[in-house]
Amino acid sequence: MRLFLLTLLISFQQISYAQDHTHRLDRSLQFPDVPGFKTMKCDFHQHTVFSDGSVWPDIRVMEALIDGLDAISLTEHLEYQPHKDDIPYPNRNRSYELALKEAKNHNLIIANGSEITRKMPPGHNNAIFIKDANALLVKDSVEVFRIAKQQGAFTFWNHPNWISQRKDGVATLTDMHRFLIKEKLLDGIEVVNQETYSEEALHIALENDLTIMGTSDIHNLIDWEFKVHKGGHRPITLVFATESTQEAIKEGLLQRRTVVYYKDQLIGRTEHLTPLLQAGLTIKSMGYQGKSNVLNVVLTNNTSCPLTVRNTSRYNFHDQGEVFTVPANGELSVQVKTIERLKEVSLNFEVLNAITAPGKHPVIYFSVINAP
Ligand code: ZN
Repeated sequence: MRLFLLTLLISFQQISYAQDHTHRLDRSLQFPDVPGFKTMKCDFHQHTVFSDGSVWPDIRVMEALIDGLDAISLTEHLEYQPHKDDIPYPNRNRSYELALKEAKNHNLIIANGSEITRKMPPGHNNAIFIKDANALLVKDSVEVFRIAKQQGAFTFWNHPNWISQRKDGVATLTDMHRFLIKEKLLDGIEVVNQETYSEEALHIALENDLTIMGTSDIHNLIDWEFKVHKGGHRPITLVFATESTQEAIKEGLLQRRTVVYYKDQLIGRTEHLTPLLQAGLTIKSMGYQGKSNVLNVVLTNNTSCPLTVRNTSRYNFHDQGEVFTVPANGELSVQVKTIERLKEVSLNFEVLNAITAPGKHPVIYFSVINAP
């Protein structure tokens, strides 16, 4: 009996030990909410065996849960069905339905979506938050957008920089895209797709008031494609939504409230990126060193993205150069030479791996209060 209890105790300890260390396996992407909005982590461009992907839809749900995402969409190609001899796909909502079933007991929103797969123009475009993918199987390249919009879709232009459709990799608006934008049939544009970033697409988004999107466009496995074991991550779109619902995410997308997280960089409009960075970085005073006028402060990064900053404050630092990095979900101590002892110290930083427009980085401001 005693031996049994002892064994039980040991196994219990082992279990609690394992539980204590689950965070080692937990690689959820972390981004804080911003004033007035929930920060929703989304990947709205993915494939499964129901078009040209290599996995069953439930795997996409599991991958999203591992990454701690809030919403995904499986956007199977409508017009490209290379597996149709092995996996016929008469009901084009099936991929969505299978993902929905898998996500049932989890906190993951599944948006029904499809990839409208055409030659350029208009190239490839996603329609998400649709009601019936089968109704999108029409020939006319403009009509398909109209049907999607009638279903309440949010639409975006996929990989406008794709070298199979743009030899030079330079995203360029065509007359057809201008028409789609004018008719309010096209809402967003991928500035980031899988491995690629398009500065020209960012420029197009800003010039034409389109939603800035970033997606994995995953066909195989997230871990395989983005080398997560080596510190990589899938690109995602952060959507600032009034609440954690499908409707609120759609509203956030339609209102252009997004930031893209890509290769440890953040890309978005100033009005969305700056509040995220202000919430993502916090600074705390640790007091002056001995009798000196050198102040110790600790910078804490509450995001999964390392933040590389350039000090633009009026003070320079005793133990750092002009540019330094606050590690993802980590801290950095910095010694500030304030020349005289101050009750309140203003610090500001240009965030070099955050992009608000081609060649432009946001500046964030802090006021550090010292205990008397
Ligand atoms: Zn795709």
